[in-house]
Amino acid sequence: TPDVRPLVAGNWKMNGTRASLDQIKAISDGVAGHALVSKVDALLCPPATLLYVATALCTDSPLLIGAQDCHQNASGAHTGDISAEMIADCYGTYVIVGHSERRSDHAETDHLVRAKAEAAYAADLTAIICIGETADERKAGQTLEILKRQLAGSVPDGATAENTVIAYEPVWAIGTGLTPTADDVEKAHAFMRNELATRFGKEGAKIRILYGGSVKPGNAVELMSVANVDGALVGGASLKASDFLAIYGAY
Ligand code: PEP
Repeated sequence: TPDVRPLVAGNWKMNGTRASLDQIKAISDGVAGHALVSKVDALLCPPATLLYVATALCTDSPLLIGAQDCHQNASGAHTGDISAEMIADCYGTYVIVGHSERRSDHAETDHLVRAKAEAAYAADLTAIICIGETADERKAGQTLEILKRQLAGSVPDGATAENTVIAYEPVWAIGTGLTPTADDVEKAHAFMRNELATRFGKEGAKIRILYGGSVKPGNAVELMSVANVDGALVGGASLKASDFLAIYGAY
């Protein structure tokens, strides 16, 4: 997309311990020394337990650090949750909200995801809002209808190209090794671009739309070259620095 800086983001999910800090350091060093560093953003979202040490490790690095979820409130009696303020306090700058695993494991609704994105804005974080159809919805030919509903329900009215990134992650493609065809990705991304432009105007048309779901070094070049794909959200393949950096290099 013209005037849009691509973003390659890694989501470690519930993986990573102190022993994984060497991978964070390797990703940080790899991005810092990469020819693409002036053109393409790189973000890593480790588990919350590693957030503070990860940002400390990356203070002088172009590698951005974010979290995988936040509560919709800034503080309070919510045992086990972390707030967007806490993420910002740890020097995180991004937060993923509405990942399909949160939607299924924790019954998160579009309404809740929207509240979480608003909490992210209030803490000056960029929200990566995840949407995507299930296998059954795809079989029933409802993909675009689902994307329309999730965009309308999960994206706050205050969304801008600075505070929001959309991640299109077909649920059936996450962690399965399956990916949509380039043609299907192109159709979905063109549809989302049009929805964002209709609702948010010229500014909204610059909101980055990432593709996620089984992105690997071997398919990254093809997926990243599809029109209206402004980067990737990478799960499994972000755990190994060499894989993540190979995907980053696909730009
Ligand atoms: C994800 O968790 O956002 C994801 C896309 O996972 P994977 O790359 O492992 O399919």
